[in-house]
Amino acid sequence: MQTTYDVIVIGGSYAGMAGALQLARGRRSVLVIDAGIRRNRFASHSHGVLGQDGKPPAHIAEEAKAQLLKYPTVTWIQGSVESAEKIGDVFTVITTDNKTLSAKRLILATGISDHLPAISGLQDRWGKTVFHCPYCHGYELNQGNLGVLATSEASLHQALLIPDWGPTTLFTNNCFTPDELQLKQLAARNVKIETEKVSEIAGEQSVIVKLANGRLVELAGLFVASLTKPASPLAQDLGCELAESPVGFYVKTDELKQTSIPGVFACGDLGRPMGSVTFAIGDGAQAGFAAHRSLIFDGLPG
Ligand code: FAD
Ligand code: MG
Repeated sequence: MQTTYDVIVIGGSYAGMAGALQLARGRRSVLVIDAGIRRNRFASHSHGVLGQDGKPPAHIAEEAKAQLLKYPTVTWIQGSVESAEKIGDVFTVITTDNKTLSAKRLILATGISDHLPAISGLQDRWGKTVFHCPYCHGYELNQGNLGVLATSEASLHQALLIPDWGPTTLFTNNCFTPDELQLKQLAARNVKIETEKVSEIAGEQSVIVKLANGRLVELAGLFVASLTKPASPLAQDLGCELAESPVGFYVKTDELKQTSIPGVFACGDLGRPMGSVTFAIGDGAQAGFAAHRSLIFDGLPG
């Protein structure tokens, strides 16, 4: 089969587009295949991205896509990749609508998916009044009363962080019991502890936490460390090694964003333990540089 592209980028959100942009500027042929289901699609506004602070996440992506598509060597397919394999030095990907495409390098930027505890009303409020990242959404809660809903012992870290954004209550929800030292740490940060189980999350402008004993706690916002996993199994299918964070798995890379499989790069949330739009753009650019350089330097004599 003929190799059609220098690089195929799977996932055309912040990370994938940042990678494709560098390759386009190197006049390399790059195909972006994107299903368009970004992790932050639940939030109306994106924060903390320099020069883009407070914009709707879709606007940032649309503006980036319009700029990227001006480069003549960029091709975009709206769709989903079902499988990817490396045969010799060639990568072949097949889309769900049965297009077969190939390239010399692959950049995976498919992101991660968030999994919340099965508590009634929680998922509906994700990205509205329920969040995982205080840097993204804490400021707008205007120093109101905040909650941390524990998912595991990893939530201790979140509970110690959140008081910078407002008075904080940790709902342990039978997920972990702080030991003596952890109780001292929580006290040092003035975190209140609620051990009653959470039965439901309600409220529209604010969050109403309904406890099993019938008591209601009103909050400006609730933070939950969602459990995460790669949004697509492609990296594992290709044999890329994974690494574990306190909340899930991500694809292990070197500092140039190359995975354990030569010629496969991973960037954005897929390739780091803690993600943001800014980090995704930085990692994507790094993957783009590195994929471009590998096309040149891996082929030189000697
Ligand atoms: P994503 O943006 O998740 O994009 C992955 C892309 O790959 C998607 O378009 C997806 O459809 C595509 N894809 C996946 N599988 C396939 C496949 N098989 N074939 C083709 N395409 C595929 N960060 C901030 O910096 N500021 C914020 O305010 C902020 N708010 C957030 C709010 C919420 C509720 C959440 C959950 C996250 C928020 N984040 C925020 C984090 C931010 O969403 C991520 O860090 C960022 O989206 C990561 O970018 P990415 O390009 O790696 O992945
Ligand atoms: Mg992206």
